[in-house]
Amino acid sequence: MNVALKIPQKPSKIKDQMLFIDGKWCQSASGKSFETVDPSTNQVICRVAEGDAADVELAVAAARRAFDSGPWSRMSASERGRLIYKLADLIESHQEELAALESLDNGKPYRDSMAADLPLTIKCYRYYAGWADKIVGKTIPVDGDFTCFTRHEPVGVVGQIIPWNFPLLMQAWKWGPALASGCTLVLKPAEQTPLTALRVAQLAQEAGFPNGVINVVPGFGPTAGAALTRHMDVDKVAFTGETSTGQLIMEAAAKSNLKRVSLELGGKSPNIVFADADIDAAVEGAYFGLFFNQGQCCCAGSRLFVEQSIHDEFVAKLVQRAKSQKVGDPFDPETTQGPQITREQQERVLSFIDSGKKEGATIHCGGGKPNLPGYFVEPTVFSGVTDGMKIAREEIFGPVMNILPFGNIEEVVERSNRTQFGLAAAVWTRDIKKAHRMARSLRAGTVWINCYDVFDAAAPFGGYKMSGVGRELGEYALQLYTEVKTVYIAQG
Ligand code: ADP
Repeated sequence: MNVALKIPQKPSKIKDQMLFIDGKWCQSASGKSFETVDPSTNQVICRVAEGDAADVELAVAAARRAFDSGPWSRMSASERGRLIYKLADLIESHQEELAALESLDNGKPYRDSMAADLPLTIKCYRYYAGWADKIVGKTIPVDGDFTCFTRHEPVGVVGQIIPWNFPLLMQAWKWGPALASGCTLVLKPAEQTPLTALRVAQLAQEAGFPNGVINVVPGFGPTAGAALTRHMDVDKVAFTGETSTGQLIMEAAAKSNLKRVSLELGGKSPNIVFADADIDAAVEGAYFGLFFNQGQCCCAGSRLFVEQSIHDEFVAKLVQRAKSQKVGDPFDPETTQGPQITREQQERVLSFIDSGKKEGATIHCGGGKPNLPGYFVEPTVFSGVTDGMKIAREEIFGPVMNILPFGNIEEVVERSNRTQFGLAAAVWTRDIKKAHRMARSLRAGTVWINCYDVFDAAAPFGGYKMSGVGRELGEYALQLYTEVKTVYIAQG
């Protein structure tokens, strides 16, 4: 059924926001607050209480109490699942409000929030609600007169730090498995996009999660974020963001209490189109795989390898498609591309474009900023990109497509893998043997064949090499949030 999308009014007045600690809304200990800004207009949306080490201290203490002795610690697994289902239902019944808030704070088109972020978020909570009472150990046939079994116990108090590109969804990827496993948590949302995390915390309170199980401390990375990563009473930290920040977090974990660390980091994903592919489908996949979410995806297909014999035809079609992007107000139903998240990101993307031009790549469209008040960048396509160019090596995180021609399968495998990243890869071919060979050969956590950006709460996601540590989503994510305890009981 094709239901017409209701386009809401852009939310007009958002009240100033507080921290959520131990079931209470409070100001920051320092009394400081910061502005969150609408990236499509450069206007302040509201002020948000700015958490720092003192607030993290209170939040971790609340999470510890809830884990050790609160009602949560005695709650049955199925009851935990019921609460997560209830949260999913509440998010669903508020989905238009949440989609509007997400688009306001992040700048992504409202229709994308409704079509992607909200359904994936709701599905993720439901998926993990179902897991809550299915996390089981094993009975192990050991030598001697012993009964031996394992218990998969919650790891404890978890610090979670998320980025601004998919605020609601990253929160769901973090909260779903943590809550299903029985952990308690302190979330630090990105300073650019704190609003939906705080609204979902309110909904969680309404769902009936006991005080202290969920705490949200907005603030900045080097202050609130770092305080979480070095805290001696945080048992695990889960992070999504830049590779260089991931390195700081691992270091802080190592130097404090060796807390468990899971990291989902950057990428420079190859998207490989063979001459035998369905060309129109591959053009569409390449377009979507790079330009979706303003190019602000860690798995963006930002190295587009096209086989030499179809190169010129492919470039022409892709440029045509990129030019069809409608850049503008996220609340306009026609808009397919909103602004970048901040002025700083806009400038950064534009400087990558400059470096592409200077290093001799051919620019086919875009390259500048449109005449709009927010942080917009024109959809840009480069061909003639070579492996050594900065635009082919570094994560751009913007609407900049780089096309690199290739000659044969061995060459493209070697060039695809010649990077420190390994988050995702995609291949377009009609040859089933080639598809399997590529799926085996590419050193990446996800390989999409004849598709791009397919996500499901049930299937793991994460990176090889410097793209991360651990796998989120699916049953695999439960390993990140549980400790395995071995129990021997003497029978004699
Ligand atoms: P991005 O470029 O996506 O902003 P970051 O890695 O800087 O990538 O940010 C992702 C998240 O990590 C944000 O919530 C940010 O506040 C947080 N962060 C940044 N620096 C640190 C740090 N040193 N320690 C902990 N968290 C940090």
